[in-house]
Amino acid sequence: MSDRIIKCLAYNGRISVTCIESTNICEEARKTHNLSPVCTAAFGRLLTMTALIGCEMKSNTNKLTIQVKGNGPIGTMITSSNNTPYVKGYIENPVVDLPLNEFGKLDVSGAVGTSGFINVIKDIGLKDPYVGISPIISGELAEDFANYFVNSEQTNSAVALGVLVDKNGVKNAGGYVITPMPDATNEDISNIEKYIYEAGAISRMLENNLSLEEIATKITGDKNIRILERNDKPVYKCDCSKDRMKQALVALGKEELKNILDEDGKVEMTCHFCNKKYIFDKSELEQIINS
Ligand SMILES: [Zn+2]
Repeated sequence: MSDRIIKCLAYNGRISVTCIESTNICEEARKTHNLSPVCTAAFGRLLTMTALIGCEMKSNTNKLTIQVKGNGPIGTMITSSNNTPYVKGYIENPVVDLPLNEFGKLDVSGAVGTSGFINVIKDIGLKDPYVGISPIISGELAEDFANYFVNSEQTNSAVALGVLVDKNGVKNAGGYVITPMPDATNEDISNIEKYIYEAGAISRMLENNLSLEEIATKITGDKNIRILERNDKPVYKCDCSKDRMKQALVALGKEELKNILDEDGKVEMTCHFCNKKYIFDKSELEQIINS
């Protein structure tokens, strides 16, 4: 089954809901970066959130970048997305290994850390990109992003992110964002809180083979949700190319490139997002220097 995103409205349009299944994205990230189980859970949650925010952007030239730095052993995580959404990410330490937490679960908070910042940068084609910064408050990421929505977008959204990992890799992954529209009533919100609590964890619902439409119904308690879009196909995909790598080389400057040419005769560059290697041989380097 391929990953999906659905967007819908509940309570006659007073509540907006976006749900994602991101199992393949998280498994692809696990294989690409050779992630440990706790890193799979942490990085997978972040990639899931990145797709959820990315798919809200209006144009396919818009770009979202999220940086999470919680001062835990994972170090910095950076993800990015367009509006398709194609997501990709970099993780500083992909092999963190920690004992399970007090609930017998992967200790995402221990790996991410609990002091630091989430940095959200949206380049939507304006002169300056939109930048939102919010403190990390729990390190479990869903609460941290809910807090980000309060701080930066003034919305009281409910956020859930879940990545279920077993010995073979990612068993399932997904998440949702529920956002009250300006005309939502207090009763709507307390109803939703009750249904979210009763619905339980998103990974449990996915494990029970609930569709995203069924999950949206369950977490809102509204049997007449209106599905707006169900065509988004989120994918873990890197858009690096030899040409982009070449731009990075050009940025080093002629002197530095000459030094490299004299010392090594070639350059090997690795993309941090997909680990693809690019080699520039002697003649290619000379060409860049002389151009
Ligand atoms: Zn790449």
